[in-house]
Amino acid sequence: MNKKAASGSIPVMKRRVFLILLLAALLCGACSRDGGLYKSTREIMGTYVTITAVREGIPEVLVRAGVADGFKEIERVDRLMSTYKPESELSEINRQAGVRPVKADPEVVATIKDSLDVARMTDGAFDPTVGPLVRLWGIGGDKARVPSPDEIKKALILVDYRQVVVDEKAGTVFIKKKGMAIDLGGIAKGYASDLAVKAMEAKGVRGGIVAVAGDLKLFGAREGASLWRIGIQHPREEGALIAKLDATDIATSTSGDYERFFIKDGVRYHHITDPRTGYPAKGLISVTVLAKQSYLADSLATGLFVMGPDKAYAFAQAHTELEVLLVTSEGRILATGRFKGLDIAPVKVEQERPS
Ligand code: AMP
Ligand code: MG
Repeated sequence: MNKKAASGSIPVMKRRVFLILLLAALLCGACSRDGGLYKSTREIMGTYVTITAVREGIPEVLVRAGVADGFKEIERVDRLMSTYKPESELSEINRQAGVRPVKADPEVVATIKDSLDVARMTDGAFDPTVGPLVRLWGIGGDKARVPSPDEIKKALILVDYRQVVVDEKAGTVFIKKKGMAIDLGGIAKGYASDLAVKAMEAKGVRGGIVAVAGDLKLFGAREGASLWRIGIQHPREEGALIAKLDATDIATSTSGDYERFFIKDGVRYHHITDPRTGYPAKGLISVTVLAKQSYLADSLATGLFVMGPDKAYAFAQAHTELEVLLVTSEGRILATGRFKGLDIAPVKVEQERPS
């Protein structure tokens, strides 16, 4: 799971909190107007998680219990699937790579299975076995650095989602090769939002938003409205929005090169890795995906980011159940579905030196 970015010798590190703050600002407006929402923020998964619940229609005690259960689900996913926690089940699966299958919690098995499905669907652009590359670059931590080409070559040999065997019947996961490691940082936040919404609905909450950094799941609506208004972070203007969207009963996820990165010799190195090259993916600076489920929106935002503009746009057109907003590294906007009709702010991208 993503760890908190820390400042260190690397000059620029950012945390993926802008969208959350903007969302909070939009919702707070609503809050103060009618007081119909209950909202709470905690730090989990190395980021801010904000849960908003509609108060209407159920006793306050159940609203609060629903929100508490939502947080519990997200904390549970973090405990099970963080690669930063040596005691997590995912860490054990990684330690036993090349040794033996590991029996794991059904949620862990399901998330890994889903992550492999997305890997196949995106032809490996999304690859949950990027663990060795994520470790090598260390982006978001205080040891981030540009590895040598030789180090990248060695890590790349250990990236291949086809080497992961999920046995759903036995409830086990086996990574075939020693040194390989699964990293669910590109899917687990979405998965956690899906579970949190389920937990809230189980308590009778009629509407709300679960926002785990840039991964949002929306359901129902607040009193007197039929949709939620959310903001999508501008990829180059801190605190500004590129677009606002009214929606509900849907998940939205944004992956951007501004979330975790460092700049060295004029080149931005960010946290979304191209499993084919071992370097940060090029061509796009922001990808927003709308999908029914949050785990899909999350993983596909990461996967489409890696694909680059042409392939990502073609993918979105072929998968009409998705809607996407892409911003290319030249600031060009490519939109499908309801993003097409939105008022989208221009993006000016400063040219970086070629890496
Ligand atoms: P997101 O911010 O949702 O796009 O996820 C980025 C996180 O996913 C990174 O911090 C890594 O933990 C992981 N990741 C990076 N590159 C990939 C990739 N190509 N496929 C799957 N996960 C990735
Ligand atoms: Mg993602």
